Amino acid sequence: MVPFPYAEEYPVHRVLPEDGARRTDVLAQLEDLASREDPTWETGQCSGTMYCGDHEHYDFLNRAFSYFSHVNTLQRDMCPSATKFEAEIIAMTLDLLGAAAHTDPAGLVTSGGSASIAHAVLAYRESNAHEVQRPNMIKPETAHPAFDKAGHLFGVEMRVAPVDPRTAQVDLDWVREHVDANTVALVGSACNYGYGTIDPIAELGQLALERNIGLHVDGCLGGFILPFGRELGYVDTDFDLSVPGVTSMSADTHKYGYALKGTSVLCFADRALRNSQYFYQPDWSGGKYCSPGMDGSRSGGLLAATWAAMVQLGRSGYREYARQIFETSAAMQRAVRAHESLRIIGSPSFLFSFTATDYDVYLVNDFLRLRGWRLNGQQYPNALHMAVTRPQTQPGVLERWETDLADAVAYAEAHADAPAQSGAIYGGVPGGPTPETDDLIRFFMADMMDHQQAITD
Ligand SMILES: *Cc1c(COP(=O)(O)O)cnc(C)c1O
Repeated sequence: MVPFPYAEEYPVHRVLPEDGARRTDVLAQLEDLASREDPTWETGQCSGTMYCGDHEHYDFLNRAFSYFSHVNTLQRDMCPSATKFEAEIIAMTLDLLGAAAHTDPAGLVTSGGSASIAHAVLAYRESNAHEVQRPNMIKPETAHPAFDKAGHLFGVEMRVAPVDPRTAQVDLDWVREHVDANTVALVGSACNYGYGTIDPIAELGQLALERNIGLHVDGCLGGFILPFGRELGYVDTDFDLSVPGVTSMSADTHKYGYALKGTSVLCFADRALRNSQYFYQPDWSGGKYCSPGMDGSRSGGLLAATWAAMVQLGRSGYREYARQIFETSAAMQRAVRAHESLRIIGSPSFLFSFTATDYDVYLVNDFLRLRGWRLNGQQYPNALHMAVTRPQTQPGVLERWETDLADAVAYAEAHADAPAQSGAIYGGVPGGPTPETDDLIRFFMADMMDHQQAITD
């Protein structure tokens, strides 16, 4: 079991303290904890997760958040500013993602990528509810598990299409063969989380049009960087709402939108599709109730901070960050290609993934971990992924990557017969997960939330 964090230095609160602590003491503790954890990514050696990584920017967002942190956006009569922020976040995102091609596009601000995807799945189910009793959708295997989760929650069967192992793009023929009368929508990623590859959106759109069904493009990761990558010439394919057949697209403001964690935008080509998924209860004794999404109360601070990030950076700010990230990613990929035993999967973009041909790539990971790198582990096949974010664009990180990767490859080649340590946790089990894996995962999740020691010992 993971030891209870910081139990040796700070008291563990098992019950609400009778007398509260001083604000200065509470803040000092928080500052101490944060200052010890931030160095894990400040070095630029951590894949993804810290998209901006610029403390001045975070301070700015936190200040924007603070003016409205206490406001509940449900009470709009008290906060017309929330309506302004939300409408402008949606409008700016729609514009960025090609909604001008449609006469009546609309959007929804949600709490994150999983929520945007869930709302898209719900909208396809609800807008087809009269004709289809047992709806299904088809997603590429590489599309995010949030689709499977949403399917599970909302009773939509999620059919999983294989991807071409060479291109890491969805197998279009498989999708075409598996569309049936109950299929309400298809899914494509721009780009997917695992490999950073973009599915053939134009072809999926064509198929969706032929079958008169929806197509959701998951741009949770790429939505705020690929449009700028395309402007700069790093991306040569179309992937947004301007592509015929695309009916919705998700884009996470809390990733490459450089806003605070807790917001994402779901864009719809047609307002009617968005409006199909509202839930409201007009006859509740507590009053007439309606909320646009799954959340009830939401902090006005998140809308303010997201809006602040967008208008402060502007197109030129996003474009410049995108340029640095794409350039750094290309250089890091060149460093991988320099090694014959490593192979980059598909044609990636700002995010890339690689596997090894003569040994388990987790041996490379074992070594890189010792040098302070934190890559994301993948399976089927075992691979490592690096989502390049702003922290990697700092001076010196690329050079460290080149040196450490070369040393890691030498280590892996020398230990090709040894089992990789990190592979035992992150790598794939031949034949797929066992029932024991199931138990283990439930145990890990419970341990993360309950921390039995805090409650019982
Ligand atoms: C992060 C991500 C999601 C899920 O978003 P959350 O904000 O983590 O809920 C979905 N799709 C892709 C491609 C992502 O990268």
